[in-house]
Amino acid sequence: MNATETTDVLIVGSGFGGSITAYHLAAGGAKVTVLERGPWLNSEEFDHDFKFGSSTTRVFDFVVGDGMSVLGGNCVGGGSVVYFATMPRAPRFVFERHGSIGRRMWPAAIDRDALEPWYDRVAEALPVTPTSWDEVPYIGGVFAAACKAAGHTANPSPSAVDTSLCTNCNWMMSGCRFDAKRSLLLNYLPAALSHGAEIRPLHEVQKITKLDTGDYRVHYNTIDEVDYRQQTGSGTIDAKIVILAAGTAATPVILQRSEPELGRMPHAVGRYFSGNGERLNTAVLEDDKVRELLGLSRDEANAYGAYQIGRGPVVASWDRLDGDLPEYERFSLEQLYFPPGFGTILAQVPDAKGPSWYGPEKKEMLRKWRSWLTVFTMSEDDNEGVFGPPPPTGNSERLSQQLLGFGSLRYRPTENTLRGWEVSDAAVRDILEHNGLARVMPWTNDVIGAYTVHPLASCRIGDDPETSALDDRHELRGHPGIFVTDGSAVPGALTVNPAFTIAALAERAVPGIVHALRERGVEVHYGAPAPDGGGAARRGTAAAVRTVLG
Ligand SMILES: Cc1cc2nc3c(=O)[nH]c(=O)nc-3n(C[C@H](O)[C@H](O)[C@H](O)COP(=O)(O)OP(=O)(O)OC[C@H]3O[C@@H](n4cnc5c(N)ncnc54)[C@H](O)[C@@H]3O)c2cc1C
Repeated sequence: MNATETTDVLIVGSGFGGSITAYHLAAGGAKVTVLERGPWLNSEEFDHDFKFGSSTTRVFDFVVGDGMSVLGGNCVGGGSVVYFATMPRAPRFVFERHGSIGRRMWPAAIDRDALEPWYDRVAEALPVTPTSWDEVPYIGGVFAAACKAAGHTANPSPSAVDTSLCTNCNWMMSGCRFDAKRSLLLNYLPAALSHGAEIRPLHEVQKITKLDTGDYRVHYNTIDEVDYRQQTGSGTIDAKIVILAAGTAATPVILQRSEPELGRMPHAVGRYFSGNGERLNTAVLEDDKVRELLGLSRDEANAYGAYQIGRGPVVASWDRLDGDLPEYERFSLEQLYFPPGFGTILAQVPDAKGPSWYGPEKKEMLRKWRSWLTVFTMSEDDNEGVFGPPPPTGNSERLSQQLLGFGSLRYRPTENTLRGWEVSDAAVRDILEHNGLARVMPWTNDVIGAYTVHPLASCRIGDDPETSALDDRHELRGHPGIFVTDGSAVPGALTVNPAFTIAALAERAVPGIVHALRERGVEVHYGAPAPDGGGAARRGTAAAVRTVLG
């Protein structure tokens, strides 16, 4: 590798924002290079094991911040390899939110109607399909029945899982061995490769500088495949266009580190981080009551017969996704399951004075781990996260060979966020403590801080240069030719799982990037079908594409 290596488009990160843009631009004829910090694993390498060096430790990035920890993917395919593939569209009111700035956060050009055809394109590509009640596992049924008994509604969520291939192994978080989970490894990424895109794993981008020609130089380190703390080399690649898609917890850090040489960053870079208002409650079910009140029981070979990692959320309650409710009091609740090792940390003994990690009540709770039902809240927070100065390399100071690092994110929930959590906690108790069905153990934010698997908004789109880092075409303000297409571009909490919205926004950003490439003399066309060749969803986006490309 030498300093004169060049490409048309350099993409940082291979999750949703990276893979989708890589496919379309490569299919359009651009030379595309993707640098991904994590390893490249395929189906047969996804382990059902927690051992060090298994896919469980290799494909995750867990960054502990001050008041907020973030779990994300760290491999080719990014978060799509580790996600639960629950894929709801964001509710209409989300796009009208004002949040902490007192006026509409989203750009005027984007509302739910405008994004709808882009969702359709992603739905065709992955694909995303409805889930039937027949596919709902026992614990999803318990949650649905509990909701019904307490006067709430619940529904199976749409998902990107091919249930005909799913074996219910419960290890989907460590990567799906059976190709049932429709990660990006099965659609956009192979399609990008077939059009000549190059994907380089174990390449961690550190910063971007600018050349006199107006092109950008991207600086990376290569990373040891076992000990991610070890750097094995370094290099640079020059590109006409850079697309940052390193994820919400990494993209602003790269820009912060680039600022001294690249020039002043927009104020919103590294600010307005949202944890998607996330919170967990663990309910310990009284199995006798579940039988008596809901008429449901597990057979002996029950779904929790092993130390499992969970199948992910399948049933959700969307009663509170009502635009007429006050902002910060709208949320969704999803049934989930976390294994005891993790749950021990998360679940608290009710009414405990301070943290009580041990003691008889905690032991009793752990004894009943087979009867746990974790409920996952996604609510409206206040975009109150701020990134401090960047660490020397990467997006955290790595503490262990794989998985764990300390990041610079600081998060102090505001009164608005806290009120949202209070209202949603009350709803969870209302559903699950009804008639003594379960005891709900509150989440331990006070002990270990908040936690999110859906980080958003640290480099967001918007119309106001003061409160958004990107314009409505995802171009970084003041730095033409740098685009951001990952979760950091989403303006705020979505009250539902975000991958579908991140992906739809990335699809929507592509024509603008094609335009920027053409302006720089790269002949590239736009109009590739879905990765499997399907074109049904293309018609819906034609008018929007024309406004950008003519
Ligand atoms: C356990 C878990 C379950 C989830 N379940 C769901 C779900 O059911 N539904 C849903 O909608 N969402 C879910 N998510 C969230 C979803 O995975 C993310 O919202 C989504 O992947 C974000 O996409 P992205 O493009 O922003 O970034 P990512 O998918 O995170 O991709 C970013 C990529 O960039 C790489 N990278 C980072 N820094 C650098 C660097 N410096 N140089 C090069 N590469 C870099 C990372 O390794 C990563 O591969 C889940 C997440 C987790 C952790």
